[in-house]
Amino acid sequence: MLTIKKHLSLKPLIEGFKQELDDTPDRRRKNSVDYPILDTALSVLACMFYKSGSLLKFQRLMEKKLYKCNLNTQFGVEEIPSDNQIRTIIASIQSEQFSDVFKTYLCRLQRGKHLKKFCFEGKYLVALDGTQYHTSEDISCPDCLVKKKNNGKVEYSHTALQAIICHPDRNQILPLMPEPINQHDGDAKQDCEINAAKRLLPKLRAQHPRMDFIWLADSIYATAPFISMIHDHDEEYIFRIKQGNHKYLYECLEAAPYHSHKSVTGDTTIAYRWYEDRFSPYNAVKFYNRGNVQKQANQVFELFI
Ligand SMILES: [Zn+2]
Repeated sequence: MLTIKKHLSLKPLIEGFKQELDDTPDRRRKNSVDYPILDTALSVLACMFYKSGSLLKFQRLMEKKLYKCNLNTQFGVEEIPSDNQIRTIIASIQSEQFSDVFKTYLCRLQRGKHLKKFCFEGKYLVALDGTQYHTSEDISCPDCLVKKKNNGKVEYSHTALQAIICHPDRNQILPLMPEPINQHDGDAKQDCEINAAKRLLPKLRAQHPRMDFIWLADSIYATAPFISMIHDHDEEYIFRIKQGNHKYLYECLEAAPYHSHKSVTGDTTIAYRWYEDRFSPYNAVKFYNRGNVQKQANQVFELFI
């Protein structure tokens, strides 16, 4: 359990959120502004805090006196806009405006000496994965990904690449600023996620220059260009790969010496297999030239369930 220190309790966190968003430029026409941007952003934060699930549910919750009071006393919001107004106002804020909110709360965790509890081998494990906020055949925005389904219908999805700091011994995770995945990122899901990751890595490094990262991701990231990007900064990575996607790597792994360990819990057996810098330079060059796996395998996990 994290023990909450004073500067990490709800009130100072909300104050920090307010400070970061206070100078958000308001691009709306002056005479059409009924609700300030800050109040609207705070309403959305409250919607997530109360785990309402949707803005509409949140509206209904706020009709109850107790919640309305809490919204006022905890978040300082007098009147909340309707769900449609909230959507329009929030859509007018560039997502980058929220980036400092994430950075500030990480600094608070650092100040409270909580961040170092997530330190793993002197570095921080950052897991990357694409996440879908919304899919629909009818509702879309200009940034939605567009996919043609087998039945000929078009599906829109609003997607982002989420990065989190995690630790194998901790139940909590620390979210970092997500990177939007846009329609112009590519036609295939894989292109989209990797292009977003190529933008996200330099941003996270710039935001947290004193932190060293180990990147965790699934097999679509195990490509030579992405691995080179990690190596260029002397960072490390652990990718979870699938045999079908990386046939050549598996052929080499089968031939290389490895350590193994099996653990049995009830009906489940988990077999671990790991390699320790055992790849010969010859193999390393072969891997690199084939362009599908790592130049130098530091540590590879294989998991069978
Ligand atoms: Zn969208």
